[in-house]
Amino acid sequence: MSYVDEVIDLIVKENPDEPEFHQAVKEVLESLRVVIEENEEQYRKDALLERLVNPERQIKFRVPWVDDNGQVQVNTGYRVQFNSAIGPYKGGLRFHPSVNVGIIKFLGFEQIFKNSLTGLPIGGGKGGSNFDPKGKSDREVMAFCQSFMTELCKYIGADTDVPAGDIGVGGREIGYLFGQYKRIQGLYEGVLTGKGLTFGGSLARTEATGYGLLYFANAMLKANGETLEGKTVIMSGAGNVAIYAIEKAYQLGAKPVTCSDSTGWIYDPEGIDVELLKEIKEVRRERLTAYAEARPSAEYHEGKGVWTVKADVAFPCATQNELDIDDAKTLVENGVIAVAEGANMPTTLEATEYLIENGVLFSPGKASNAGGVATSALEMSQNSQRLSWTFEEVDSRLQTIMEDIFANVDAAAKEYGFEKNYVVGANIAGFLKVVDAMNAQGI
Ligand code: GLU
Repeated sequence: MSYVDEVIDLIVKENPDEPEFHQAVKEVLESLRVVIEENEEQYRKDALLERLVNPERQIKFRVPWVDDNGQVQVNTGYRVQFNSAIGPYKGGLRFHPSVNVGIIKFLGFEQIFKNSLTGLPIGGGKGGSNFDPKGKSDREVMAFCQSFMTELCKYIGADTDVPAGDIGVGGREIGYLFGQYKRIQGLYEGVLTGKGLTFGGSLARTEATGYGLLYFANAMLKANGETLEGKTVIMSGAGNVAIYAIEKAYQLGAKPVTCSDSTGWIYDPEGIDVELLKEIKEVRRERLTAYAEARPSAEYHEGKGVWTVKADVAFPCATQNELDIDDAKTLVENGVIAVAEGANMPTTLEATEYLIENGVLFSPGKASNAGGVATSALEMSQNSQRLSWTFEEVDSRLQTIMEDIFANVDAAAKEYGFEKNYVVGANIAGFLKVVDAMNAQGI
């Protein structure tokens, strides 16, 4: 049996009930076969893959907090410190009822390669909780965040592990988490990114994942003789990634016509009104039904459906496995030329293969959504310098980083004979740097 298959079998056997983690490991290792086979003897001797797929440290903790009725609630918190070969652990915190150890491990594993691709010195980690911030009062969210950080603060620090946001964790949550870290540790340091602008946050961090996604997609299209100018584009999601992807799509001359949340989706043939969307999602924290009520040109549909809208480019920006094989077939039938992932692993393995086989340009999230974490690393740099850069400076660095990621991914794909396969390119480029650092640092 090949080394890749052995390690995949091992992961499945040793981590039952973690399908998303299995999926992420399979996707990465399968696409690295060519590199691994070239070095099989050495990698086996070094147990390189076993070391890569097992987190350096996994922390699981109890999070008790008091709700507005005086009732004590108990959630579970996690932080998986996956790989620190190239820098301190870095990666978001996800607060969502679906969170379990397998979800956090899949996200942490992906984060290793994503962070490597940014070219910045950050290792891979991820954390979160099954707490659902939806429908909770500000006081309840604060109580939860304080309890979560009371435990997490023992394991993180500006030079060891620097969490940020992800689904369910935005500026409000980061503020409460930062306050509690400072209160307990007595340290005013860059221990979290995505902070408010008045206490060490970076300009353009909020916009970075969505903006970066569009910079990456434009670079990928340009390398294939196209651009976003004049294109109709469809997005899923209505969170931080989708909102700023929509904003940047307009700036690059495209027309975004869809978005979605957990209960339904919007088709707005006149183009999504991004200011209205921000007001509803960021300020009022309401459902997309409120968007349709306020905007006569918009249609609201229950359930799932953005991928049925005819468009040139699709941007899945909601969550894992939201674009399956049936959606991929619909996209191909509708003549979509590119799919760029804004979320983490939003496309199933089967759908990814189908899109690539049918000539659709496809960028994996670990490359095209890396702008968020890259800008987090820029926030870390500003915190270390005790300086703040202008919006233009951060945004221009972000654009350069995304174009460099595309160039590196493209070059790695070509070098290994997988021209235009950006999944293979991203995994190889991300992996080789981490392996080099792991080898240099010994066992
Ligand atoms: N949660 C984001 C991601 O998936 C950002 C992580 C960070 O900024 O540390 O990459």
